[in-house]
Amino acid sequence: MRFFKHALYTTLLLASTGLMSLSAAANVVILQYHHVSETTPRVTSVTPEELRQHMRYLTENDFKVIPLTQAVDAFQNDNADSLPDKAVVITFDDGYQNVFDYAAPILKEFNLPYTVFVNPRLLANHDFYMGWDELRQLQQQGALIVNHSQSHQHLIRRLADENEQQWQQRVSDDIRSAQQAIDDALGQQPKYFAYPYGEYSPALETLLQEMGYVAFGQHSGPWGKYTPLTAIPRFPASGRYASLDTLKTKLLSLAMPVTEVKPEQSLLAPDQVKPELQVTLANSDDMRNSQLQCFAGAEVLAPTWLSATQFTVKPREALGIGRSRYNCTAPSESQAGRYYWYSKPFIRTDSKGNWPD
Ligand SMILES: [Zn+2]
Repeated sequence: MRFFKHALYTTLLLASTGLMSLSAAANVVILQYHHVSETTPRVTSVTPEELRQHMRYLTENDFKVIPLTQAVDAFQNDNADSLPDKAVVITFDDGYQNVFDYAAPILKEFNLPYTVFVNPRLLANHDFYMGWDELRQLQQQGALIVNHSQSHQHLIRRLADENEQQWQQRVSDDIRSAQQAIDDALGQQPKYFAYPYGEYSPALETLLQEMGYVAFGQHSGPWGKYTPLTAIPRFPASGRYASLDTLKTKLLSLAMPVTEVKPEQSLLAPDQVKPELQVTLANSDDMRNSQLQCFAGAEVLAPTWLSATQFTVKPREALGIGRSRYNCTAPSESQAGRYYWYSKPFIRTDSKGNWPD
């Protein structure tokens, strides 16, 4: 009885300080895969054996692999606290044939749900990509097949002589016709969109929101209640990110409660080569602010705290041409070994406004 009373008191105390709610979910880690093969480019590949290792690790360590729909519904309905602790979502981009050949049997063996983002116009290249028949089979096994645009263009890039309105028209036509092709082949599917190359801009986010989509990037970090539903992060799990040692930390990561970032834009102006990032948090009650660490590639960025809930970081070295990210982590006070994580993507263009794939 005495023990029970003590436990009850502790529970009430934790609940009253808000620490309870921190351990109670509202946190989803999405893993992003591309190829599952031993012969495709390493940077976007895991081997079948690596994928099996990942899935075994998840199931043997109390992670709860949930369907993407369950996560989206919870966050959309402001019900994210109902999600299980250590929730994980598995996604594959581009719909390669090797996902059908190697990934699907492994996911079936472990009985785990997953999502495939496809580019309908590219599926005609059938040796490389799955066809609709294969996708239909995956769907029948419980996979969700959703939108990755028609043909994997750099959607945030305007064409020469294209004005804002023409850009909007072209991009919304692309997304809408891709959705139509998916719905025609597989029945009406939820409006989920993965940005090609993970590239998004405030204008593209607004467009997708107006079209009723939730949208996913490929900047790292978990998904929490402050994450905009048009810029949901995913952890790449291929290539050098396939190592279980580093993946373990990411699987346990907690969404940093970021409410505002400056700049909002990820596309940098030509003279903006060392962008300062300012991050505002809803709170930092459970974060060890003094141990916040940020990185831009290999460079360690020393953060400057402006208040308990606001910091800035700025690199000393110029970012390279193309995509890069700032990653920031800070240990949790209440949960040993877990880190709050936030990532901000940037894109630096060359003098002609282009950048590599
Ligand atoms: Zn892709």
